[in-house]
Amino acid sequence: MKAVVYEQYGDPADVRDVPDPHPAPHGVTVRVEATGLCRSDWHGWQGHDPDIALPHVPGHELAGVIESVGARVTNWHPGDRVTAPFVCACGTCEACAAGDQQVCARQTQPGFTHWGTFAQYVALDHADVNLVAIPDGMSFAAAASLGCRFATAFRAVVQRGRVAAGEWVAVHGCGGVGLSAVMIAAASGARVVAVDISPQALDLARKFGAAECVDGASTPDTAAAIRELAGGGAHVSLDALGSPATCAASVNGLRRRGRHIQVGLLPSLSGTTPVPMARAIGLELELLGSHGMAAHTYPPMLELVRSGVLRPDLLTTSTITLDEAPAALAAMGTAPGAGVTVIEPWR
Ligand SMILES: [Zn+2]
Ligand SMILES: [Zn+2]
Repeated sequence: MKAVVYEQYGDPADVRDVPDPHPAPHGVTVRVEATGLCRSDWHGWQGHDPDIALPHVPGHELAGVIESVGARVTNWHPGDRVTAPFVCACGTCEACAAGDQQVCARQTQPGFTHWGTFAQYVALDHADVNLVAIPDGMSFAAAASLGCRFATAFRAVVQRGRVAAGEWVAVHGCGGVGLSAVMIAAASGARVVAVDISPQALDLARKFGAAECVDGASTPDTAAAIRELAGGGAHVSLDALGSPATCAASVNGLRRRGRHIQVGLLPSLSGTTPVPMARAIGLELELLGSHGMAAHTYPPMLELVRSGVLRPDLLTTSTITLDEAPAALAAMGTAPGAGVTVIEPWR
């Protein structure tokens, strides 16, 4: 099969022929029809993820068709249209038993713990725990977003943020996960303030339901701007980018008893990120992490997609081939992109 491979962190990746993957007894292989390009792929390529072993194939949000099935898989068959959360859970650890597969103690992640989806085929573990059927009528490009950015945003806004109608929700960083969060929060009846340094990203945020936009390039104190717009601060605020600055701005833009949700990854050399804890104490803030979404909690989200309330299909702004993927991966670090790029490995 063809796959995007890198040999060293930060060195250009190339497209080459590699052996097809085989399914584990509990797993499947999937013919990848569409796979999104996510900032965590760029972090992995930069060497920010200790799970990655070289050489490596990136990519973790996919949609496709089951190609082959391991002997112990009971619920899935070749030909089924599927996606899967990027956190593939074991199904048997304490977290999994509690229904929290998104923080499974023995999780695997395509594109991190093993070769990923920037390829024509990918192996996924524990298929009976992790696969999600793609609803009829949903495109592979839209379904790919359910593997990471859209489901991650849904869990952050709905399950972790508990966003209610009428609340102010701030979204820092309007890339794929941020724009998804804007759409989901607006559909929940929240008033959304979107923050980004890219005018194109803010245009998309407005299109997807943001009531207010703050241009971080021309606004030195985005937290102050949010407190002003939202009458004292946001009820819920997401750092959807992942940087010390956006994390702090998200916390500082909250009102009393507000909820900060950390969604964007925060790799740093020290492994820690400064957080304004004095404000967290004085205002009784909740500081919450959010990490993917368990497959068994997908049905309410899928129903909102089926009924047209949520439109992940609108988030895709460009579709590229596997040969174009290495350059697109590299560009994520330099150009503040707008919208979502989807790779179609068989095109
Ligand atoms: Zn991702
Ligand atoms: Zn587990």
